[in-house]
This record gives sequence, structure tokens and C-alpha cells, in this order.
Amino acid sequence: MSNTTIPYTTPTYLEAKWQSLFEGRNEALVTLAILFISHEIIYFTRCLPYLIADQIPALQKYKIQQKTIQNTAENQWKVFRYVLLSHFIFELPMIVGFHPVAVYFGMAISTIPFPPLTKMAAQVFLFFLFEDFFHYWAHRGLHYGPFYKHIHKLHHEWSAPFGLAAEYAHPIEVLILGTGTIGGPLLWCWFSGDLHLITTLTWMTLRLFQAVEAHSGYDFPWSTHNWLPGWSGAEHHDYHHMAFTNNFSTSFRWWDHIFGTNKKYLAYKERQKAQKAVELKAQQAKKAL
Ligand SMILES: [Zn+2]
Ligand SMILES: [Zn+2]
Repeated sequence: MSNTTIPYTTPTYLEAKWQSLFEGRNEALVTLAILFISHEIIYFTRCLPYLIADQIPALQKYKIQQKTIQNTAENQWKVFRYVLLSHFIFELPMIVGFHPVAVYFGMAISTIPFPPLTKMAAQVFLFFLFEDFFHYWAHRGLHYGPFYKHIHKLHHEWSAPFGLAAEYAHPIEVLILGTGTIGGPLLWCWFSGDLHLITTLTWMTLRLFQAVEAHSGYDFPWSTHNWLPGWSGAEHHDYHHMAFTNNFSTSFRWWDHIFGTNKKYLAYKERQKAQKAVELKAQQAKKAL
């Protein structure tokens, strides 16, 4: 006997939890709470490993900039206070506007089941591509004279950044670059009508992970760019903060390569390599004596 009806599947643990969060409550308010609270938890806990690394002398050899030290307790405290305040004053109102916009664009919010993992992964990858391209041009634009002076200069206060500084930015910059983060999901939703909030939340989490890592100031052997070809990571973005130019993209290295905005960075890497070779030679000569 054939059965053409879709089989009923019991909700997974996470789906049941998700459903119970919304049950009998205002969907917009629950969405706001989920987005704001998860942003705070994810951002600050993602910064924690780097704050701990700052206290471990054996890990200091992995600091990308050895001469400029800005990750002092005083600077971190200053940045922490600014970022926390800006989350409440500027980002919270932006998050309030998320639910009506997401519903308008057709995003599934409180419904279950969640999409299959393969679909979520494909959509998140697409958002990475979109954000990276958007960010490349928006960030390049922010380096244009008056925009830099009045908006982007604040983020560049740190020439040797640290994790917490990822969101240390002018509110207008947060709005402009945030468009790249939320623009991908909204556009995808508009054209396909197939996107769940849980996928958007997963994307935002990974985007936060990427941003904090890029500003961490550390290049560990296990850092993402050392095992994921084409990934930017801290090693790439740290140069942008040090030199105030080149390496404008966030996640991948290809746009800077295609548009030639990595030439100074590559020349710097060559000079660093040559210098290391000279130092090694001198050390070997010393040993041979
Ligand atoms: Zn910049
Ligand atoms: Zn930065």
C-alpha cells in the first residue's frame, strides 16, 4: 500500500524548545529578545578566549604585531564600555525593526520544523559571499576622505586591534556594514520565499565569530585562515588596521586580490619573509662560531 502523505515527525529537542519560546507570547518581542540576548552572549563569550590568551605569556609569540601593544586592560575596558553602550543605544533600536522587516520579506520565524542542515549550510554560505562583497565596497567607501574622517576613523583608533574592538565603530558605520549582514538574508527571502530565522541566527553567529577573530590580533596555528583556503582571518585584517589601507574585505581574500587592494600587504609580507631569512642566517652564523 502506498502512502503519499508527508509523514509526521516529532519535533527535535531544539525545535520543541524553539516552539515553546514563542508559545502564547508576542512573536516580535520574542524575536527581539532572542536576537539581542544571543548577540550579547555570543559577542562577549567569543572575545573571552582572546582575553585569556592575553594573560598567557607562552601565547604572546602568536601576536601578529609584536611592537605595538594596545590590548592593555585600560584599552579593553574602554572598548568594552563603548561597545556595550552602543549595543543598547544604537543596535537595540535596529533590532527592534528586524521583526516587521523580516515578516514583510517572508521569513519564517516561529514555525517548525527547522530547515535541513544542508539547506541551512548552503544559505549561510551564500550570505557569507554576499556580505563579503558588500563589505568590500562599503568599507572601501568608508576610507574616502570625509567618510573616513567623520565615520570610520573611530574604528581605526586601534592600529593593533584586539577581539573586543570588532564592534568598536561609529553608529553610522554599524548601520552601513550591518546592511551587508542582514541584506543577504532579506534579499534571499524576497526572491526565494524560503528562509527560517534559525538560519539567519546561525549566519549572524558565524559572522560575529568571523569579526571577533579578524580583530583578535593573534595568528595561532589553529586560526581559521591556516586551514581554510581563501579565508581572511586576523592575519589579513590586522594589516588593514596597522597600515590603514589594503585588505578591505571581511571573510575572503579574493576581492582584494581581484581589485588589486592587497599589493602593499603582499609587499609587506615579502619584506617580513626576507627579514626573517636574514635573522635566521645571522643566528646560524652565530651558532657556527
Ligand atoms: Zn578600515
Ligand atoms: Zn576592523
